[in-house]
Amino acid sequence: MPTFKKVLEVNETYAIDNGKEPSAIKQLLMHHGPLTPTEYYLKKDEAMDEKAYTAFLKDVDEYIKHDVPIQHLIGHEVFYGYSFKVTKDVLIPRFETEELVTHTLDYIESFFPHDKPLRVADVGTGSGCIGLTLKKERASLSVTCTDVSKKAVTVAQENAEALGIHATFAEGNMCEPLGEFDKFDIIVSNPPYLKDQEPLEAVVKNHEPHVALFGGSDGLKYYRELFETAESYLNTPYMIAMEHGFDTAKAIRKLIQKTLKDVTVVQKKDMQGKDRMTFVFKKP
Ligand code: GLN
Repeated sequence: MPTFKKVLEVNETYAIDNGKEPSAIKQLLMHHGPLTPTEYYLKKDEAMDEKAYTAFLKDVDEYIKHDVPIQHLIGHEVFYGYSFKVTKDVLIPRFETEELVTHTLDYIESFFPHDKPLRVADVGTGSGCIGLTLKKERASLSVTCTDVSKKAVTVAQENAEALGIHATFAEGNMCEPLGEFDKFDIIVSNPPYLKDQEPLEAVVKNHEPHVALFGGSDGLKYYRELFETAESYLNTPYMIAMEHGFDTAKAIRKLIQKTLKDVTVVQKKDMQGKDRMTFVFKKP
């Protein structure tokens, strides 16, 4: 059997030659090793176990030849330092969304009275990464997660269990399932926001759930729904925190001005300098 080092070198070159990410190969090797990056440096001249090698090569081919996202091969993605199970039924958590969580936590501190127990709804939760991370970071929050996909709700529930936290789950489109609960103080959402015709890489288009990606011809379908319905599920003061497409910030501001009265709107760029998040605040 070849050594870990050799296996890595050969397959990183294979990835590069095929226009793929060599870093993905390293992640797959760590997964199948199984090794932590430190263990790799200690053991790199040792021969890889045959079974692990065969399984690794199979996944390398799935990634390189069939564009299968490595998160699907490995079965999880790290988000905000926490491990989230992902399947083909949920959107793979993205870096940008960690920024939505950070800003939301900051605004929870600065906007709401400190002694108020706050109720958060994460609508269109997918893997649960937003709502469950908020709960992990601020245990006093009461968190409810919704998703239109039953399979996504199951994944999110499994993630809550694995993270050892309590959250409530409900199946249904966006805010629709919220009526059966007490009113909320915060709605947070990363709804599907790609335009239906948006060109996508095969790794996303062929493997991630379209129900979690596409938001109608202008990418705004779910924001319209959200603004039209949100207030009936919210207390005052409230905050609505959203991620959105890089080119829809202005349109979203307009939609808010048309639908919600007496609110303050704050828009933020992500670390790549793209307009990516909008926060709506209503004071009493
Ligand atoms: N950010 C995701 C992408 O670029 C889209 C996520 C979404 O639609 N909410 O693929």
